[in-house]
Amino acid sequence: MTTTSSQPAIELAPQLPYSALRQLLSEITGDSKHLPSATSTLDVLWVLYDRVLRIDPQHADDPDRDRFLLSKGHGPASYYAVLAAKGFVPRAWLRAMGTFDSPLGYHPDRVLIHGVEISSGSLGHGLPIGAGTAVGLRAQGSPARVIVLVGDAELDEGSNHEAIAYAARAGLENLTVVVIDNTSSTHGWPGGIARRFDVEGWAATDVDGRDHEQIAAAFSTRHDGRPLAVVAHVEPKGSM
Ligand SMILES: [Mg+2]
Repeated sequence: MTTTSSQPAIELAPQLPYSALRQLLSEITGDSKHLPSATSTLDVLWVLYDRVLRIDPQHADDPDRDRFLLSKGHGPASYYAVLAAKGFVPRAWLRAMGTFDSPLGYHPDRVLIHGVEISSGSLGHGLPIGAGTAVGLRAQGSPARVIVLVGDAELDEGSNHEAIAYAARAGLENLTVVVIDNTSSTHGWPGGIARRFDVEGWAATDVDGRDHEQIAAAFSTRHDGRPLAVVAHVEPKGSM
């Protein structure tokens, strides 16, 4: 998957710290911020972009870059804030999110936003795409890692379960999924979400989705020959 030359030229901004994210989020206006969906991902997204992913705005087309796929694209405000903080998009774009000619739509568009790998928001697509991407990169001998972020309710989509089964059988060590669990799924999973992955042969671990050290350490979990699932627990939907 590559970004395209049709992306608008942007002036790269200086990088901002974690402490700037709340201000950046407040600059996103409009009545469809999808706030619980957006803020549940904030700390995991920050740790990924700050400490885990080998990507940067100057090399967004590097064939060996890590691939980050936001499957949970229906609440992208935190994603946009982190992309702005890391210099992928101009901060000034945030204020216009969702307006007629803004590149920042209510679902991310890979053609319009520098560094975005997939257009998403229709749930259940990211993990299958991530599995396929991991297969392709492995075949090319690439060192790139594929990390997919999904929501707990999104796991209700059956497409995820084909990908969960396939990725383990194919031994996709270069694939990691992080599930943001804000207790919003309709059915839930007996024994917890991590168990769902574990029984299929994934390495799986639970973390506090607001604890940056725990999150960073989880992405370094050894998982020889297996894909890795990180289940990040945050406050239940509706409690914020
Ligand atoms: Mg959820």
